[in-house]
Formats: sequence, structure tokens, C-alpha cells
Amino acid sequence: MRKYKLGLIGYPLAHSLSPVLHRAALQTSGLEGDYSLFTLSPEEAYHGGIQSLLSAVRNEEIHGLNVTIPYKQQSIPHLDRLTETAAAIGAVNTVYLDDGALVGENTDAPGVYRDLETTFRRSLGTEIKPGICLLLGAGGAARAVAHSLVKEGWQVRVTARRFAQAESLAADLGFGVVSVAWPPQAAALENVRLIINATPIGMYPDVHQSPWIEGVPFPPNVLVYDLVYNPPVTQLVRQARQAGLPAETGLGMLVHQAALAFSLWTGAKPSIQAMFQAAREAYRVKGE
Ligand code: NAP
Repeated sequence: MRKYKLGLIGYPLAHSLSPVLHRAALQTSGLEGDYSLFTLSPEEAYHGGIQSLLSAVRNEEIHGLNVTIPYKQQSIPHLDRLTETAAAIGAVNTVYLDDGALVGENTDAPGVYRDLETTFRRSLGTEIKPGICLLLGAGGAARAVAHSLVKEGWQVRVTARRFAQAESLAADLGFGVVSVAWPPQAAALENVRLIINATPIGMYPDVHQSPWIEGVPFPPNVLVYDLVYNPPVTQLVRQARQAGLPAETGLGMLVHQAALAFSLWTGAKPSIQAMFQAAREAYRVKGE
């Protein structure tokens, strides 16, 4: 039986939950192997670190890699091709070998939508239906979120503290995405069905911060989704719940993007439930 060698390239990686998720996926799929953290400093990356890890995938010494900050864009020139999703977003989080070709994929996009589907069903008791989303932040994760929403028929209003960044996201993704001022004004909140935070505001250790505009009420009947998943209940999620609104953090997105990557590498469909359980247990052990 193949012994899977999987891993993650990024910097820094000390707090990554990916090893815990992929070890649970391996175990519950009955597969042998391990998932390692390949911490590459910018200097190591500059001196060929990315190429050498990608060559190991080409030679099948490594059977699959995830890519995270700051290499989601930098890894692209070293790949043979991108999937349609990764090309549209302009960022890669998963690399796999297909018939000898190194392929870059972005599983954050389908991953977030899968979790939104579950969250709508669980929190609102309804199937997710396209509407208007207010997206806070315009970095790499926001691009993946906007792509997945537009593909499913949503309209996205993207806002970022650097308006030019929001404008360029809207221009690159095209139809279905418009840029609005930061902080969003009343008109930008009209008819909004979903608010997604794709900034790191509120992430550990800055757990008391929130990206929501102080003193401004949330729009009525909105669902709030925070990509930040550490802490398990962010300040934004707490504020929304206090306002009586359904709200979730992005742990489910993390689990789903990992499961989709795992399937590309191994062909197996891992247990989502076991991966969630492993992630929650890791938090409990770390006490965060
Ligand atoms: P990124 O590329 O650095 O983009 C972050 C965005 O947030 C940028 O628009 C940035 O603006 C803005 N921002 C940062 N600090 C801000 C502040 N204090 N006030 C206002 N805006 C601020 O990061 P990313 O990769 O998109 O990740 C964003 C967040 O999503 C991170 O917390 C990450 O952990 C999380 N994430 C979660 C998942 C998941 O599976 N749940 C997956 C991917 C990412 P500037 O460029 O001006 O700083």
C-alpha cells in the first residue's frame, strides 16, 4: 500500500491545524501516511525552496501539497497548469500531480460554499439561495469567497480599507462583484442577506476586535460568517448572535477545503465529521 507523504508550504506555520485535519482524514480513510509542515522562510523561498518541494511532487516523493500565505501566488509560475477556479482567483492552495503535470487548484472556493450550505441549513432551516453578500476584505481569501458566490448566482459588494484593492478584486472577478466604500455606508447594507468577514480582524491574539462598524446595527435577517476560526467564537460572531442573528466561524471552510484537497491527492472521500472532531479536540488541547 502507498504511504502518502503530504504537507503544507507556508510561513509561518506553527499554529496550522492542517496536520491534525489530514491525519484524521488518513486514519478514517484507512490510508497510511503523514502530513508535514514545510516552513519556508522568504529567504529559503527566494533560493529555490518552492521549486524543490514542487519537484518532489513531480517525482512522487511527495504526493500532495497545500500552499498557504505568503506563497499562494508565488507558487503559480512553477506549476504546469491551473484549474479554472485557481486561474479565476489567481491563487493556489493545493498542488497535485495529474498525468505527470503539476496542477494548481484552489479548494478554498468550493470549501467555503459547502460550509455555507451546511450553515444555512442548520441555522436557518433553509437551503441556501442566491442573494446579496457584503464581503469585508479583498485579499486572497476574499477572492476565493467572491468567486464561489458569483458562480452560485450571488451578487457581492466587496469593501476593503484600501479601496483600490476592493476595486481590483471587482475588476478581476467581473460580473456580479461591485466595490463599496470602507466602512460600508447605509446604502451598501440594503437587502444584504449574508455578511462575510475575510479580514484577519478578531483573530487570536486580537480576540476583542471586530470588523463590524461600531454603533451600526446589522441589517435584518442577515447571516454572518467569519472566515476567522481562532478563537472558536470570534467577537464578530458574538456581536451577531447577541443581535439575534445566526453566525458561524470559518472552521467548516477549513475542514471542507482540506477534505477536497485530500480527495484530489488520494481519491478517497474522508470523514468530514472525524476531521471536525479532530480540529475541535486540537483547540481543546491547546486551550484556545
Ligand atoms: P490577506 O490576503 O492578507 O487579506 C486580508 C484582507 O484583510 C486585506 O483586504 C487586508 O487589507 C484586510 N485587513 C487586514 N487587516 C485589516 C485591518 N486591521 N483593518 C481592515 N482591513 C484589514 O489574507 P487572506 O489570506 O485573505 O486571509 C484573511 C483571513 O481569512 C485570515 O484571518 C485567514 O486566517 C482567514 N482564512 C480562513 C480560511 C478558512 O478556511 N476558514 C481560509 C483562508 C483564510 P490590507 O491589504 O490593507 O492589509
